[in-house]
Amino acid sequence: GSLPGWDDVDALVSATYDRLRDDRDGTVADYIPKLAAAEPDQFGIAVADVAGGTHDVGDAWAPFTIQSISKAFVYALVAEVLGHEVVGERIGVNNTGLPFDSVVAIELNDGHPMNPMVNAGAIATTALLPGASPDEKWSRLVAALSAFAGHRLSIDEQVYASESASNDRNRALGQLLRSYGRLDADPAETVDLYTRQCALLVSAHDLAVMGATLADGGVNPVSGEQVVSPEVCRDTLAVLAASGLYEHSGEWLFEIGVPGKSGVSGGIVAIAPGKGAIGAFSPRLDEAGNSVRGQRAAAQLSRALGLNVFASR
Ligand code: GLU
Repeated sequence: GSLPGWDDVDALVSATYDRLRDDRDGTVADYIPKLAAAEPDQFGIAVADVAGGTHDVGDAWAPFTIQSISKAFVYALVAEVLGHEVVGERIGVNNTGLPFDSVVAIELNDGHPMNPMVNAGAIATTALLPGASPDEKWSRLVAALSAFAGHRLSIDEQVYASESASNDRNRALGQLLRSYGRLDADPAETVDLYTRQCALLVSAHDLAVMGATLADGGVNPVSGEQVVSPEVCRDTLAVLAASGLYEHSGEWLFEIGVPGKSGVSGGIVAIAPGKGAIGAFSPRLDEAGNSVRGQRAAAQLSRALGLNVFASR
């Protein structure tokens, strides 16, 4: 089936927002200095359906950096270019069970990055972007993520600068992958591209539309543009189901029942194949790096809208 009717979805989105309006659980990420300055009380929810309808409440249009959520869409772009076999083998699809920036996960797996949703796998994915130079790769990346959102995305230069000055760990991950022969591109250039992709600005509304594009076989339901193929959407959603919420991916699937992806600035997207997507933004995080209120909003709406892909009725 599809989503409930328009007025019902509107009312359910508003009711979810109202119930969670005073929720202050969790803490804002501070390992990237500029993220620590985020206004912690911001809260927005958006729903986009595959027919092109959107519902927005609260700070649904407030801009924030996409962070790890970029990993899902860059993966889709690379999978579109290289195909199921190559990305499946080179990047992997299994959860590490370890934090997103783990070095141990690489060491334990003979240098394999494991999956595209941890930093090592995301850096390895970004390295596979088509293009002869970092500038060309960046152009392809921005064009693709913008097509998912349906408008031209821009970068938050302050967050980019702040993370560039503090991302020793990601640079170490790039070097480590390189030492194992798992990175063909230059590690420093690749990590710089990855840092830039994480600093692209989106809103909860954008996340809902981007997610709905994956739910809609790669067609952006608002712009009508075919951004990636249905096969790539299927693969990307499978990867998100296994690893989209860091080491809490099992809990997320158990509670919410749809593929999703979170980022450390407090964004979250939950994708119901064939139906649509929820975008949420609330900067306070749990210990794994997932927005606390975003997860609660997704859980309540998934239930209310009947999104769980494992439910038989
Ligand atoms: N840019 C962040 C990092 O690489 C993204 C992490 C995240 O959102 O999980 O550390």
